[in-house]
Amino acid sequence: MKVLVINCGSSSLKFQLIDSDSEQVLAKGLCERIGIDGSQIVYTPAGGDKITTVSPMEDHTVAIKMVIDALTDQEHGVIKDLKEIDAVGHRVVHGGEKFSGSVVIDSDVKDAIKDCSDLAPLHNPANLIGIDACEKLMPGVPQVAVFDTAFHQTMPEKAYLYGLPYEYYEKYKVRRYGFHGTSHSFVSARTAEILGRDKKDLKIIVAHLGNGASLSAVKNGECVDTSMGLTPLEGVIMGTRSGDLDPAIVQFIAARENLSIDGVLDVLNKKSGVFGLSGGFSSDFRDLEAGIAKGDAACIRAVETYCLRVAKYIGAYAAAMNGVDAIAFTAGVGENGPMVRGKVCEYLGYIGVSIDDAANQVRGDEKIISTADSAVKVLVVPTNEELAICRETVALV
Ligand code: AMP
Repeated sequence: MKVLVINCGSSSLKFQLIDSDSEQVLAKGLCERIGIDGSQIVYTPAGGDKITTVSPMEDHTVAIKMVIDALTDQEHGVIKDLKEIDAVGHRVVHGGEKFSGSVVIDSDVKDAIKDCSDLAPLHNPANLIGIDACEKLMPGVPQVAVFDTAFHQTMPEKAYLYGLPYEYYEKYKVRRYGFHGTSHSFVSARTAEILGRDKKDLKIIVAHLGNGASLSAVKNGECVDTSMGLTPLEGVIMGTRSGDLDPAIVQFIAARENLSIDGVLDVLNKKSGVFGLSGGFSSDFRDLEAGIAKGDAACIRAVETYCLRVAKYIGAYAAAMNGVDAIAFTAGVGENGPMVRGKVCEYLGYIGVSIDDAANQVRGDEKIISTADSAVKVLVVPTNEELAICRETVALV
């Protein structure tokens, strides 16, 4: 089967066309600045060069039309006809408590995604626009929704409730949902495969450390805790997000900086994290690593604070599962950051983690980086959310 995987943002659209038999990416790309001046599509066929086409895209329907045109282009296309696309898999950010797995999209599913928009006001409406656009351009082609929150729906009540008046959960569904679920599911399953063990017998901690970052505790193949909450702001320190803090800080900073609640939240989402801690130097760990190599105190401060927070979450999840068999690092920083992995693992000797420094130099490849006698296996496992969405789509259609 050929599956088109779509990840729609409010003004962007990422896509991959995947052959599900070989699991090869046939082509991939990105539409940027949809509905804004200067929109463009960047398209890369497998084995070919990037092709950038600047062209107005007033909405997502036009963007998807351009994706289809690129895929079927006589010179650079990878399929002859639109009819070769057998199914479409959509990343949908928030499934609330309604979705604990992927589903074939129909009008009830679309209504339910709309109902969850309250919880993800920037993302779910954009995801729905992408679904509508695909329905319009590819009528009759089955479409599947794969939710970022679904994998975490197995969390027990004691892990997902906040210490708030219970009526807020009953009235407004204020609880922890978690995100990056497709990645946590893919990486935990792959970790078990690499170790040659059944995931049902393992306690795994996945550290998805990208620009956004979250950890999850996966026991016997099911998520039992995760670090992001009602929104992706909770948990570890991220590229530009603060992660956990004393909620009273919101009022404290609002009063002193003359900001509204929205204004403070904007700071917590976009100007905090390692970016804020480094005094606005960078949210990118490549820059921070370069800064540390030169002895830059701001970069050292940012990365040290970040690594301690990640290590503390790993300790917490080892406690939540009463043990841990494996820790898997994934996403941009987790896959490519020997320094961060090394610093995090320095805190974890007490639970039996021992890292092989030479193995830990790996960047971007699957590898066991713990020593042979480490009680806890530590791995680098590249995530592949698009492939996971493709597999889910094939399984349902
Ligand atoms: P993601 O959100 O998973 O795409 O991760 C993006 C982040 O990964 C970037 O902002 C960088 O901080 C980090 N990253 C990517 N490549 C490298 C690298 N080679 N070395 C260190 N960090 C990297």
